[in-house]
Amino acid sequence: MAEEQVFRYRPRCSHPSCNQPALFKVGAVWSDGTSRELKNYGLTCETHRQSQLERARHNRDGLRPAEGETVGPVALFVLEPGRRDTELAPAMDSGSGGKAEP
Ligand SMILES: [Zn+2]
Repeated sequence: MAEEQVFRYRPRCSHPSCNQPALFKVGAVWSDGTSRELKNYGLTCETHRQSQLERARHNRDGLRPAEGETVGPVALFVLEPGRRDTELAPAMDSGSGGKAEP
């Protein structure tokens, strides 16, 4: 039994019709000036990264930060189990990323 226990749980893509493992977290860096955290807007696999990102950006439009708070742009972060949200690295923009969705 030499199975590695790296992934304690395997998060899934938030897309309703997708059951692929999530590779990215959709989030926005929130700060109140002293502390920082990543607002979570869902998880996504490689296929849905663009649509999930756009959906999150749309949702975010309805959110207003309270006084003294700042919220950065919604972006994709590379999901790495065991890392804290604020330590996640932003995902590289693949440029065109013109993948067709089913
Ligand atoms: Zn997906």
